[in-house]
Amino acid sequence: MSDVALAPRQVPPVETEFRKIQTPIPVPESIPILEGLYRDEPRSMRGQGVVVWDRAEGFQVHDRWGNTWIDWSSGVLVANAGHGRPEIAKAICEQANKTLLHNYCFPSEIRAELVERLAKLAPDPLDKVFLLTTGAETTEAAIKLARTHGRAVGGDRKIGIVSYEGAFHGRTMGAQMIGGIPALKEWIVNLDPDMAQVPFPDGFRCTDTSFDFFLKTLEEKGFGPDRIAGVISETYQGGSAAFWPTEYAQKMRAWCDEHDIVLIFDEVQAAFGRTGTMWGFEHYGVVPDLMCCGKGITSGLPLSAVISTADLMDQYPPGSMTSTHTGNPVCVAAALANLDILTKENLPQRAAAAGEVLHAGLREIRSEHADVCGASMGKGMVAGLHIVKAGGIEPDAELASSIVDRSIEKGLLMFHPVGFGGATVKIAPPLVTPEEAVVEGLAVLREAIEEARS
Ligand code: PLP
Repeated sequence: MSDVALAPRQVPPVETEFRKIQTPIPVPESIPILEGLYRDEPRSMRGQGVVVWDRAEGFQVHDRWGNTWIDWSSGVLVANAGHGRPEIAKAICEQANKTLLHNYCFPSEIRAELVERLAKLAPDPLDKVFLLTTGAETTEAAIKLARTHGRAVGGDRKIGIVSYEGAFHGRTMGAQMIGGIPALKEWIVNLDPDMAQVPFPDGFRCTDTSFDFFLKTLEEKGFGPDRIAGVISETYQGGSAAFWPTEYAQKMRAWCDEHDIVLIFDEVQAAFGRTGTMWGFEHYGVVPDLMCCGKGITSGLPLSAVISTADLMDQYPPGSMTSTHTGNPVCVAAALANLDILTKENLPQRAAAAGEVLHAGLREIRSEHADVCGASMGKGMVAGLHIVKAGGIEPDAELASSIVDRSIEKGLLMFHPVGFGGATVKIAPPLVTPEEAVVEGLAVLREAIEEARS
């Protein structure tokens, strides 16, 4: 019935300022809950770590049986302002108690407040905001807007969408077609011939990081600029935490301008301070034509946003680009409170500072285990440690999984490894994590690697 071992493992007790583990893992009392989930949910849901969350505050997660973890997942890069922030909970309760839970088809004052706030926060010329619920909806909308624009300026041939190998943009059909993980889209069978993926210039698995290589690859695939409506990339790639080289980004911007191609950054993971700047693309010194946001926008409730130019956003007539939960008032209240926290507490800057500590520690760990830690990537409070078969670049998913499992047993929470071959140990602490907890987390990770290798 299970794809994950549900047998509790006896683990040494842990008690520090930040962590407490006092039961076997998984907790024996949690097994019936996990079994119930396995029985009632699709098997695809079994990729989750076997920790049944009860409460989460700041950078810590607690279960019902007295265990506390330092969280290096932020849920799944959602809790940027920290878990369970009282300010956000209060805003949600106040909005709910006002008894406006839903008002689709009609405007609300609070929705007007949020879109104005986001439009001001985004750089020019991104001054229109379309609220949705999930990240995948924003990438679907991005495809639609880019294609519509492409047809308007270049006719029916200019509909191509270029994206990246290894990319993840969500699990709906369009999002999976532009995704760069073949196994996720096999089921579609007849993939759109006007969508192509090119290698992501990460400097590790793709060593030619030049923009010329991008152009050469497109040419080989038969995708000239007259056939391309949009280029979409995660600002950093979720599966690896790799960023584009800055020069590549700047050449991309100029090339998209030259050929009237919509440049889209999928900021679903990168926005709202995660990388040490409010928007991830600030590292590149360029502004996209459209960005997709989600996850950290509320630090908890489901809300997402497309933020783009008036030219792109106003292509559809009234009533033709909407969604039932657009601007749900409770989610909007959470977003406003979250944005207050991010700005008042300078969380992007704090993420940059704590990120220095995180990345320095990861570099050390990597040099200690250079044979199996192929690369360490990321900026601010996101990192990817690439676990490989000794001495090469072939992903070692088994070792990566074991590192994550051993970390969880020691009170450091991470989600299952991601990326190429499922071997990237992904690190994404809430931005409020104090440096001492980052240092403690690094020590736990070091122990976990040593144990997983022994
Ligand atoms: N884009 C990126 C970069 C993501 O990481 C994700 C989710 O992990 C998505 C899009 C899809 O977001 P959602 O799961 O909210 O649909």
